[in-house]
Amino acid sequence: MGEGIARVLADLAKTGESRYLNRLREQMKQPALEDESSLDFEDYVGDIHSHTKWSDGRATMLEMAQGAQALGYRYLGITDHSPRITVVHGLDAERLVAQSREMAEVQKQVDGVTLLQGIEVDILEDGALDLPDAVLEILDVVIASPHVKLRQEPAAMTARMMRAVSHPHVDVIGHPTGRRPGSREGATYDFEAVFKEAAKNHVALEIDTDPARMDLSPEMARMARDLGCDFVVDADAHAPAEFGYVPMGLWMARRAGIPKERILNFRSLDEITMAFE
Ligand SMILES: [Zn+2]
Ligand SMILES: [Zn+2]
Repeated sequence: MGEGIARVLADLAKTGESRYLNRLREQMKQPALEDESSLDFEDYVGDIHSHTKWSDGRATMLEMAQGAQALGYRYLGITDHSPRITVVHGLDAERLVAQSREMAEVQKQVDGVTLLQGIEVDILEDGALDLPDAVLEILDVVIASPHVKLRQEPAAMTARMMRAVSHPHVDVIGHPTGRRPGSREGATYDFEAVFKEAAKNHVALEIDTDPARMDLSPEMARMARDLGCDFVVDADAHAPAEFGYVPMGLWMARRAGIPKERILNFRSLDEITMAFE
């Protein structure tokens, strides 16, 4: 062990902090330790964003439900893709009806975890959504996500996102920038205006914990927190093992200093149902 590291460890052991690490945090513009929130996976009640073989998931609805049940979740949002994304067999109204029949069957086979039928609906280029209002209205949860044309001009992208957060049936904005760390930068828009509007309309912003996304980042989530937004922390799981991403997402939310009351996944089934009404 190097002398420097030994000193940091000795400081940490003695005082619980290290001047060197505090200086690093400052230099890296990271929040101070005391500014982090305290969030525990033990208290996490359920995940609302997941996929099944109905679109691009790799597991059946039953397997996903059993995975959530094994973790002790009280609810799981089944939110497959909308039709626009043809490569992943997005669901139209007809297939959603068929899916709801399967859901009723699966629900009989799993105790404890309530399945919420939802959709991850595409935010189209002009900000309209990829399914008719009448369909969105009857679903338990609507996550609106930007997937394509993320390189729009900021003004057009802002108008697009403003329209999505103003839609009466949208509950959550999924992975709000669409970034893919290491390969693709996310969309650029007037984040402040859009996040403010989301807060006003009680539309939650997602911290998508898929390691390929990590979207929102802790820095942006902190900004959204300051603008009054609520959040969901979801695995966006495409297989049961991916539920395991959530603890990392909670770590990101802690870094962002988001208090537990602002994260919907810590709420009971009744409370979350009410929030998504
Ligand atoms: Zn998505
Ligand atoms: Zn998804």
